[in-house]
Amino acid sequence: MGYNIAIDGPAGAGKSTIAKLVAKELSFIYVDTGAMYRGMAYACLKAGVDVEDEEAVSKKCQESTIEICYEEGEQIVLLNGENVNGYIRTPEVSAATSKIAVYSGVRARLLDLQKDLAKKQDVVMDGRDIGTIVLPQADLKIFLTASSAERARRRTKELLEKGQEADFEQIKKEIEERDQRDSNRKVSPLKQAEDAIFLDSSDLTIMEVVEKILSLKK
Ligand code: C5P
Repeated sequence: MGYNIAIDGPAGAGKSTIAKLVAKELSFIYVDTGAMYRGMAYACLKAGVDVEDEEAVSKKCQESTIEICYEEGEQIVLLNGENVNGYIRTPEVSAATSKIAVYSGVRARLLDLQKDLAKKQDVVMDGRDIGTIVLPQADLKIFLTASSAERARRRTKELLEKGQEADFEQIKKEIEERDQRDSNRKVSPLKQAEDAIFLDSSDLTIMEVVEKILSLKK
């Protein structure tokens, strides 16, 4: 069994940035589980499957394979063998992902893969249900959050820096809708594990959060 660090929290809390840096510092593998759900949502959108249709979505996910591999330390999501990293971060895919992530068939399909990755190696894994469902035995669990305004401000800045259009109010609305769906679904909702350490990053820099997590690792 590897050393497992679980980082859960709402959209835009900085999980992936922080998990990546912690993993690099410790020479652990970083596993972005959100990207796997995004890969499945992209498979549905690409095939014209209605994301409100649970049966059709579950069928599509059964037929699709998601694998992850690493190129120069970067996680690559392979959908049926094809690198889809460039397609899975659009607002359309984000919204579709939190819709299909409520279906138990979709979650079951990805759960074994996630457990398996953590069994074999030291990992920092981020998502919504890592500390509660995927790795309940994780050695260190962090629940990372920030206010929705701060999360929207960060996303807006990130998009503008990439030269893309970004409307703060719209982004804040989308983040809050996603939080609602992720926290209120029946299967594996986003919630803090009892033994997770709560970290609010609203007033902390990225490096302050990273150092805090490193200091918590036994
Ligand atoms: O973390 P990220 O924003 O990439 O996740 C996209 C969506 O995938 C989330 O809004 C959530 O609906 C879903 N997700 C999940 N369980 C995880 C990771 C992501 O339900 N472990």
